[in-house]
Amino acid sequence: MSVFSNAMRQLELAASAVQLRPSVIERLRRPERIVDVEFPVLMDDGNTRFFHGFRVQWNRARGPYKGGIRFHPGTDLDEVKALSFWMTIKCAVVNIPFGGGKGGVAVDPKDLSKGELERLTRSFTRAIVDVIGPEKDVPAPDVNTTPEIMDWVADEYAKIVGHPEPAVVTGKSVAHGGSEGRGTATAYGAYVVFDFFRDKLGFDPESSTVAVQGFGNVGQELARLFHHHGYKVVAVSDSHGGLHDEEGLDVPALIAGKKQTGRLVRTPNAREISNEELLELPCGILAPCALENAITAENAEQVSAKLILEVANGPTTPEAEMILLKRGAILIPDVLANAGGVATSFLEWEQNKIGEHWSEQEVFGRLKPMMEDATFSVVQASETHAVALREAAFIVALGRLEKAMEG
Ligand code: NAD
Repeated sequence: MSVFSNAMRQLELAASAVQLRPSVIERLRRPERIVDVEFPVLMDDGNTRFFHGFRVQWNRARGPYKGGIRFHPGTDLDEVKALSFWMTIKCAVVNIPFGGGKGGVAVDPKDLSKGELERLTRSFTRAIVDVIGPEKDVPAPDVNTTPEIMDWVADEYAKIVGHPEPAVVTGKSVAHGGSEGRGTATAYGAYVVFDFFRDKLGFDPESSTVAVQGFGNVGQELARLFHHHGYKVVAVSDSHGGLHDEEGLDVPALIAGKKQTGRLVRTPNAREISNEELLELPCGILAPCALENAITAENAEQVSAKLILEVANGPTTPEAEMILLKRGAILIPDVLANAGGVATSFLEWEQNKIGEHWSEQEVFGRLKPMMEDATFSVVQASETHAVALREAAFIVALGRLEKAMEG
């Protein structure tokens, strides 16, 4: 099953649980615009190579399209469509005035020099410049894209329109109009959501273990937060493999090693494990923070975690979700768990628009109640409709989208 078909199955399931105008569902089944571009990049050897990129604008009923740009060799239109649709749901769940969009370029940035990466980013920006803008469509970072890359997008856009327009993109470096806290906001938001469920699910730091799949922007920070709050982070992994220590890994040392070498550096007592093993380890909390389709019908029976905190987008297929729910696992869905990133992007956009710069304390002071309100609405919908949390999150979002599409 493709990632996009999985996303559409989630939509159909939630739509069948509530009464919505048929035209609303029809609109949400299709993107409003697909921009599909082949763009040139001058390589260091003097040759010009063409790259394939996309910007999919799903729905703008609630405000400008909003969503990250991903640089990954596996990126294709099917994936970007799914991610763009999920952004529409996510922005509605966390109740910010944005619609949903997403972008992607099929490239492995590790194969490029820094100069090539910058030229690729600027060329992709030129290729999509007509459809982005502070009131049209506002990109942000995602897999393999960084604040520096967002700064290049903003700079290229400014050159084209003839004046600085920092609100065209979020996730910029603080020096170029980025928000304090944006780099850690996705993980922070996920932790706030987790904390909301903590007592109810009986998790306490002394007896709860955590496994984190993916050790990038969000995985590192989430592992750091759990470690900081006294939880034993027993396993982490990146695309090359994982490390396991049932007594708890030295997370700060792993983060320092990853920053220095770009790899997971084995710490004393840690044993190497495969990516598959990490998902199947006995642990209380499993946080997928890598890519889509990590938990599928093939491995879901072996996943024993009590709580799955979906910080990645789309890490669980619908078949896998059914297996997990059947055995009583709690699954906190991506459209809620990772919404702290886009919520803080909204706060950055607001700061840019009014020319202010807020402290990290102020940013997180605003973010926390946004995440708590979203979680509360989802839990309430789950109880009212007697449905699992993903379906409940979709029900909350669909209600808000239907309202925005009125008239
Ligand atoms: P990133 O590129 O910084 O990190 C991704 C990590 O996943 C890397 O460590 C990579 O090595 C690892 N990885 C890839 N395949 C793997 C596999 N099979 N097993 C284990 N690890 C694997 O990306 P990120 O920004 O941290 O994003 C991670 C996920 O979170 C994505 O699904 C993204 O869409 C989602 N997300 C990110 C943000 C954000 O603010 N960055 C916001 C919302 C959602």
